[in-house]
Amino acid sequence: MAKHCPRCAQLLAFGERGGEEMWTCACGGLLLRQRSVIPLMEALSADGEAAVQRLLDGDLPPRDQEPIECPECNRRMDTTGYAGRSDVFIDRCGRCWLVWLDPFEAELMAALYAQANGRIQEHRSALDEIVKRRMASMSRRVLTPKSNGGMY
Ligand SMILES: [Zn+2]
Ligand SMILES: [Zn+2]
Repeated sequence: MAKHCPRCAQLLAFGERGGEEMWTCACGGLLLRQRSVIPLMEALSADGEAAVQRLLDGDLPPRDQEPIECPECNRRMDTTGYAGRSDVFIDRCGRCWLVWLDPFEAELMAALYAQANGRIQEHRSALDEIVKRRMASMSRRVLTPKSNGGMY
C-alpha cells in the first residue's frame, strides 16, 4: 500500500539503504521497520569518525515536536527515547513496528551508536555538543515522553 510522509504528505519511495528495505521521502525523512534499525546503524557507523563527520557536515534541524501519524495505520506514533536515552527521541508505531526518522536523525543515531560501541575518539565532545544543543531546543513537553501507547 502506498505510504505518505507524516511530515510533508509526499508519497514515500520504497528503496534500500545500508542493505535494509525502507521508505524515503524527498524531504529527507525515513520510514523503516524496527528490526532494520540496528542493521542500518551498523552500516552507517562502521567508520565511527566518518559517521560523526557526516553529522557535523549536515544540517541537523531542531527536533520537530509536532505529533505525527503512522504512515501505515494512521494512528498517532509514540515518541520514545532512542536506545533508552532521555535526550534523543524517535517516533515509532508499536502496532506496525515502524520507526520514523526525521532528516539527519539516522545520522545522529548512527553517531551515537558508534560512540556506544567505542568507534569514535576524536569527535566525542563534538557529538555531545550536538546532542546537548538539540535537547536545549526542545520544549519540556517531550522531555518526559510516555513509554508506549500512551495517549497524549
Ligand atoms: Zn516528507
Ligand atoms: Zn502503525
